[in-house]
Amino acid sequence: MRRSPLRLGVLGGTLDPVHAGHVAAAHAAARALSLDAVWLMPSHVPAHKGSPHASPWHRFAMTALAASEDALLVASDLELARPGPTYTWDTLQALAAEGFAASQIFFITGADAFAGIDTWHRFPDVLDAGHFVVVTRPGHALPPDVLAQPDVAQRLRIAGDTATDSSPASTDSRAIWLVEADTPDVSSTDIRQRILAGKEAGTDVPASVAAHIRRHGLYTHQPAARRLHG
Ligand code: ATP
Ligand code: MG
Repeated sequence: MRRSPLRLGVLGGTLDPVHAGHVAAAHAAARALSLDAVWLMPSHVPAHKGSPHASPWHRFAMTALAASEDALLVASDLELARPGPTYTWDTLQALAAEGFAASQIFFITGADAFAGIDTWHRFPDVLDAGHFVVVTRPGHALPPDVLAQPDVAQRLRIAGDTATDSSPASTDSRAIWLVEADTPDVSSTDIRQRILAGKEAGTDVPASVAAHIRRHGLYTHQPAARRLHG
């Protein structure tokens, strides 16, 4: 029988490709909130952006390679296995159906992704389906008007703040945990553009992911649909 981890982090995204910023955000969240594992979850069709460049198979393969280099991380195909657009609400419901209590789930986003939280499917109910963990990202401030919304403001907690206890006993009611972290200033967009320009991903991606990108010639061409639309 599988034993559910007591505190599960989930980091979703296009992961096109997974990179050092995702890994650093996962570790910062795990450190700040004593998470037992972080599932890296490539999304199928992201709800908030255009279609990914690499196929779902390649994005999952790269995620699995990154996870194989890191004891904290686990690659999850939960979102890829579900057809249609990816909504965090559905993912959190699927985790509940697998036996995870909302108080055990910590959905991790960078500041840029969380900035649009009030446009997410089933906002504000989605905020009660698990904890949210917002990790700082270089160059992306959290918009004050989003933080000031009552549904957001009343849930905000600063992780690591001694006045705010983040021990398991205190996390029964769902919160939005802010985590201040020194994550590297990298993005999948930058990495794709660099490879398109004939350069290497270098240390911005785990070594096995860099090898996979090279071996399969990923990101060396503009996707056809994007060429058509200039
Ligand atoms: P793209 O440029 O294609 O949008 P990305 O680098 O933003 O890619 P995503 O897959 O969109 O990566 O991001 C998945 C999640 O990881 C998002 O919540 C995003 O905010 C977060 N994230 C990505 N890079 C960082 C980083 N350097 N620091 C903190 N969070 C990050
Ligand atoms: Mg992004």
